[in-house]
Amino acid sequence: MKKWMMRFVMVVTISCMLGPVVFAEGADGTGSKSDFDRIQRIQKEAEDELERELGAFEITANQRELAKENEAGYPVLDAGRGNPNWINTQSRYAFTRFMNFSIEECENDFSQGNMAGHAQSEGIGERFDAAMNPRDSTDAFLIEAVKYCTETLGLDKDALLKELADAVIGDYYPSPSRCLPNTEVILNAYLQSTLYKGVDLAAETQIFPTEGGSAAMVYIFEALGHNRLLKKGDQIAIATPIFTPYMQIPSVKDYGLVSIDISSTEEENWDIPEEELVKLEDPAVKAFFLVNPSNPASHALSEGTLRRLQQVVKKNPDLIILTDDVYGTFVKDFQTVYSVMPYNTILVYSFSKLYGVTGWRVGLIAMNKDNICDDLLAELPEEDRDFLRKEYAIVSSEPEDLPFLDRVVADSRSIGLYHTSGLSTPSQVYMDLMALTHLVYAEEDPYIRLANETVKERYLALMDALGLPADEGTQNASYYTLLDVLSLSGSRYGGDFAGWLSESRTEIDFLNDLAKKKGVVLMYGPGFSAPEGTVRISLANLNKEDYVELARRLFELLEEYYEEYEAETALDNAA
Ligand SMILES: *Cc1c(COP(=O)(O)O)cnc(C)c1O
Repeated sequence: MKKWMMRFVMVVTISCMLGPVVFAEGADGTGSKSDFDRIQRIQKEAEDELERELGAFEITANQRELAKENEAGYPVLDAGRGNPNWINTQSRYAFTRFMNFSIEECENDFSQGNMAGHAQSEGIGERFDAAMNPRDSTDAFLIEAVKYCTETLGLDKDALLKELADAVIGDYYPSPSRCLPNTEVILNAYLQSTLYKGVDLAAETQIFPTEGGSAAMVYIFEALGHNRLLKKGDQIAIATPIFTPYMQIPSVKDYGLVSIDISSTEEENWDIPEEELVKLEDPAVKAFFLVNPSNPASHALSEGTLRRLQQVVKKNPDLIILTDDVYGTFVKDFQTVYSVMPYNTILVYSFSKLYGVTGWRVGLIAMNKDNICDDLLAELPEEDRDFLRKEYAIVSSEPEDLPFLDRVVADSRSIGLYHTSGLSTPSQVYMDLMALTHLVYAEEDPYIRLANETVKERYLALMDALGLPADEGTQNASYYTLLDVLSLSGSRYGGDFAGWLSESRTEIDFLNDLAKKKGVVLMYGPGFSAPEGTVRISLANLNKEDYVELARRLFELLEEYYEEYEAETALDNAA
């Protein structure tokens, strides 16, 4: 599998060496037209190469096709992508019910044929109370949710219901475009409860709901580049192994950034070791990007590492930290980097996995009101500030004072269409309802506990079937696991066989065989910068018994390889 790794390193290196294509180097920043075309062509080729070589998701799609027609005629077992096989029902029932209530509110304004008016705030709280039936479980939840908002969060009942009714109906542009006001309070309470481990940040955090965590990342990188907080040649540190598409954003896209790895290993329980963390002390490192708990390794940073990270950042105080905490709720007593370093950290969260809402496209960006990006903007060289003043003059009368997060919102619609930016309002309501299914529980949320137990049981069943020791540590989110196929082969059939396997098959060969012969779809580790010989198994996609069957088929394939190996060695010995 070595041959394959070399190509990977080469492609990434080439793409890192290419200059910025879209963004200017200085205030004037124009290169000659032919240079531009040439660089763009080379970059395009590098991107194509990356796609061919590294598109883990595309490769999995290909294996899915192979698996359908597998030689054994087995039913397909797809543990490749991380799309959960569960959904949250309560938030969906509540959404439908609240939608119905809100349509009636509009009809209450005026109604003629299929046409109705807009919801009115006057008396909406009383009409809500009258409409809800406390003996119906969905209505009872909505009553509880509204009570939580008014009594615990201190929101005004009529204002809240009017905002939610308009939003679910979707008859106004999102206003303010960044986030609806009551929604921001609810989402802050959710983040506070699930990710901050008791650190009180809800009141000082600003939120921008986005079309999932993926859009959040793209928007942030766009705005960091456009606002010249990241420039050509800047170093950006990436905690690896990491979710593949993210690896491709900073290194290949338009900014010409240089990425350096902050790597963790299984031996260190996937926690970032001291010698890797200290790389962040270098002031040349402008940003640090991590997924926590990680994907594919599925481990959260330990408390000790969080403290050490805090010390490291004291030596590089301008470091921008970008943390993707989509798996945070899968670790009990999880603590986000944002709660330890709120000034330096931009937080990305997504509802996709926990609530089974990958098709909704709902996530968010959270940032402290007092943050490094706003301060760095104020310290930019005069020419950059001048450029940015002109850029944002069309959307703000005080463009220099426009906070970074609002620039992210503006940039998400190329500034010019700022007035139509913001996440669709029904999506914002749906986020509120998911958040409230959690918030109404003063003690432990049974849904989150169930989701955690579900993946944990599958993980334990898989490890047991593979005959491997399970990691039952609290940092293990168990949403995915990285399986070292070479080491498994070595311990089962001996080192010589593992050596033969690594010479005769690449990861892709192995995964293709697994799909083609056994109907099993997994993802390959090196695409995530995980060690060679590893594959990622998602514990979100299949039922518990399926993971036992998956392990059995994996061994069946290894057994066939072993027979081939024995036949070859027998021939060699005979020769
Ligand atoms: C699945 C996943 C997400 C979720 O992305 P969405 O766009 O919200 O669906 C975000 N980050 C990581 C690391 C993921 O694995």
